[in-house]
Amino acid sequence: MKKKLKIAVLPGDGIGPEVMREVYKIIEVIKIKSKIDLQIKEYDIGGIAIEKWGQALPKNTLKGCEKSHAILLGSVGGPKWDSLPAHKRPEVASLLKIRKHFKLFANLRHSFLHPKLYKLSPLKKKISNKGFDILCVRELTSGIYFGKPSIEIQKKNKHYALDTTIYHKHEIERIAHIAFQESLKRKCEVVSVDKSNVLNTSKLWKKTVEEVAKKYPKVNLSHLYFDNAIMQIIKNPNLFDVILCPNLIGDVISDECGILTGSIGMLASASLNEKKFGLYEPAGGTAPDLQGKNIANPIAQILSFSLLLKHSFQLYEISEKINLSIQKTLLKGYKTLDISNGNKFITTNQMGDEITKSLIKEYNK
Ligand code: NAD
Repeated sequence: MKKKLKIAVLPGDGIGPEVMREVYKIIEVIKIKSKIDLQIKEYDIGGIAIEKWGQALPKNTLKGCEKSHAILLGSVGGPKWDSLPAHKRPEVASLLKIRKHFKLFANLRHSFLHPKLYKLSPLKKKISNKGFDILCVRELTSGIYFGKPSIEIQKKNKHYALDTTIYHKHEIERIAHIAFQESLKRKCEVVSVDKSNVLNTSKLWKKTVEEVAKKYPKVNLSHLYFDNAIMQIIKNPNLFDVILCPNLIGDVISDECGILTGSIGMLASASLNEKKFGLYEPAGGTAPDLQGKNIANPIAQILSFSLLLKHSFQLYEISEKINLSIQKTLLKGYKTLDISNGNKFITTNQMGDEITKSLIKEYNK
């Protein structure tokens, strides 16, 4: 175990700084109760960094992240910077850049619904009251979003656009290993999603995943075509454990799994590289409609921190304590606006306070 655990905190724009404040309450409890030397240093990223430093990802921020053991990010962007050219917008100029810089190829998104919280889900009661616990493992740095050429061509009487999907075998192998390793910590079930009835990249994907699976005899592997997977997840989310997907497919499936839990405000994600260095962030954006109103849901940000403790520092018990505190707070009926169904709700600060109180109780048990 490292003596000093250094975390670079990048609150970013919009609701980012508001929800990050609630994480600091959790960090204080952990520092005192677990006597862990968590060292937090804040850096600017996104629109705020453009205002202060003239660029969305300043050198100082990148250096700070390099010197840390993990990165905790809020979110970036907002209407103020929407009119900038695409490559200067905070999302592209900071988020994509930082993911690329640290070669964060594995995106892990956890969607969990406690059976007793079935009302949060948009699914029918007979499906949601079984609860579910899905880990979506998405390849993040290859596939159609990165393949070249990606162009629009207009000449004479021809006008067309072209994107390219490329998957190298080693890119599939490394993400498959992550999915199998994660499944060993869970129910040992991996469903790999592809479109191998049509696409060559998917054929290679399926073949390669099957080869990697041989190294994990305890894990049960099955395959679904993308279109069928979308339907099966909605019909029976409780039958899924780990879902392994190429980039584009994972983009859709992880959002689908996410919304089934009720709100994007409760979804966290981890992006890891081969050395398991990680960046942790909420799945949602800067929610400009909520900014400054003290009504955003801080759970996604707190869960992102919990993922950080688990994946970067192997502090499994503390991570689990945080998850339990969140579940217990929700089970007591505390809800922020996004999950209130038009009923009474509490503020961002109050939700942070309730989860903190619940965490202290977990420690005092
Ligand atoms: P968004 O995720 O910010 O908001 C979509 C909806 O979800 C809104 O109704 C919002 O109120 C709600 N929401 C999001 N987070 C919430 C929370 N914690 N609690 C309660 N409700 C929450 O997506 P958008 O509106 O498309 O984008 C807004 C800005 O954020 C844009 O500039 C976009 O580019 C940026 N963005 C950034 C990231 C990121 O930093 N990773 C991701 C997505 C969007």
